[in-house]
Formats: sequence, structure tokens, C-alpha cells
Amino acid sequence: MTTELLVGREVVLGGTRGMLVTRTLPHRDRRMVGAWCFVDRYGPEDIAGRSGMRVAPHPHTGLQTVSWLLEGEILHRDSIGSEQLIRPGQLNLMTAGHGIAHSEESPPGHGPVLDGVQLWVALPAQARQVEPDFGHHADLPVRRYPGGEVTVIMGELDGVASDARTFTPIVGAQLAVDGELTIPLRSDFEHAVLVFDGAATVEGDELKPGPLLYLGDGRERLTLAGQARVLLLGGEPFAEKIVMWWNFVGADHEDVARARADWAAQADRFGVVHGYDGDRLAAPVPPTTRLVPRGRER
Ligand code: MN
Repeated sequence: MTTELLVGREVVLGGTRGMLVTRTLPHRDRRMVGAWCFVDRYGPEDIAGRSGMRVAPHPHTGLQTVSWLLEGEILHRDSIGSEQLIRPGQLNLMTAGHGIAHSEESPPGHGPVLDGVQLWVALPAQARQVEPDFGHHADLPVRRYPGGEVTVIMGELDGVASDARTFTPIVGAQLAVDGELTIPLRSDFEHAVLVFDGAATVEGDELKPGPLLYLGDGRERLTLAGQARVLLLGGEPFAEKIVMWWNFVGADHEDVARARADWAAQADRFGVVHGYDGDRLAAPVPPTTRLVPRGRER
């Protein structure tokens, strides 16, 4: 079966003194894996004696943000009143729906290293306008296999289900590979894997931290060998066309143009994030060309 190696690009998050992230989705050659539409990998970064992550209040629509850490901690605040510290092995899941704003930062007295991912899940049309919601999941299900251990973050894998809220059939899991690990997959899902640390042989390819390996659909199982922590993403191929622009997912150009204007006007739609020591992010210049809804492949 064919695979595609999606090499990420480096992006500076949160201004000139911000953190460097490697963005593998959306990619020039592929925009989504299931409903997963955004993959930012950061760290491991030495933040000892530094402010660390400082992402000022900013809006989202039409998606869920998934925060997952390998090391360190992040403090989340949002405009529906949530304030939540997360640590490795825990999930912070924010459903933006119609509109929400949040900030994410390294808390005072943070540890010396920050290492993690920020992922987005696109909402399907019938759920795009849901009320905003935030969930913290500190007790995710773990299953041991010969050759490794699987933590189910979102959705279901091999009958083990996370209770995190989902809107399309998807899976997100961390695989701790220690030897040779074989897991069953849903053949109607497409999948991709990202090595967090270590190295693993995946379907004959040696995969190291950096790129996202797209595995396509039609697989009944996946075998990984080595010593590595690996992120598995998958889902039913996303059938709808969407527009992604700045922090927004929408049905069309008007959707995201309206969201941008509402944020710029400080409309009630996004609320206010309390407690962040700094200004909110300014809305970027509006799109200069008409944004065309696109499907999961370019
Ligand atoms: Mn965000």
C-alpha cells in the first residue's frame, strides 16, 4: 500500500519571540486526515528561566482544538470561563462551534522543558454552529499490547474509547512502542502517524520526528517496530469542502470573513478571556482574494 511522507514547515507561533513549531497539516499535498485539519508539533524546547509559551487570546470557529503534551504544562483560559492546567497524558479539548476565544501559556513556575502538539479537528456542517464547550480529560483509557501501550485520546481504537466529545468518526491515539506493536485499524478510516520521539519502522519505512506519514485507507492493521512515542491520527475521509483561514473553519468565504470582522469589532460572539497578562491578538488583514472551499486533498 502506498504512503505519503508529508514534510512540515517551520512556523513561529505567537509573534517574534514566539515558539517554533513544525506544521505538517494542512500540507501542500494534503489538507486533512479524517477530520484532523491541523498538526503543529513543538519542542522539546528548553524554556528554563524563560516565559515559554505565550499565545494571547484569539478566536476560533468551526473546529475543536486538541492540546496534548509530552513534557511540561500549559495553562488554558477561555471566554466561557474555563481555566485549566494540562500535563502530559491529559487532553484539553475545546469545541469552538459558533465562536470562542482562548489563551494558552506556560504557567508561572513552569518546568524546564515544553514538548507537545496542538491539533485541530474540523466540525462537520451540522455541528459547525454548536455552542462552545471545553473539556479536560485526565483519565484517558490505556491498553497494553505485546510491544507497546496505546492511549486513546479521541474516538475509539480496538474497542477502547475516549469519552472526549467528537462529531465525526475519528481516532487520535498515542502509541508507546517498545518492540513490535501491531494494532487493528478501521479499514474505512484513513490514517497518518507522527513520531514524537525515538524512531519506529512503520510499514517498512524508518520514521523519525518531523514529518507526518500518511497511510491512506483500507488498512486492517498497522505494525510499528522500535522505541518511540508515536501519534496516530485517523478518521472517515472528510466529505465536505471547507474554508480554513487564520483560526477559523467555515463553509465559505463569507463565514470566515464574518468571523474575522466579529473578532475585530470585539463582538459578543467570541466573549472575553479573563486573566491573561497581555493584549489579545489583533485580527489579521482580511483575505485579499476570495477563499474557495476545498476538499481534503488539494
Ligand atoms: Mn488556539
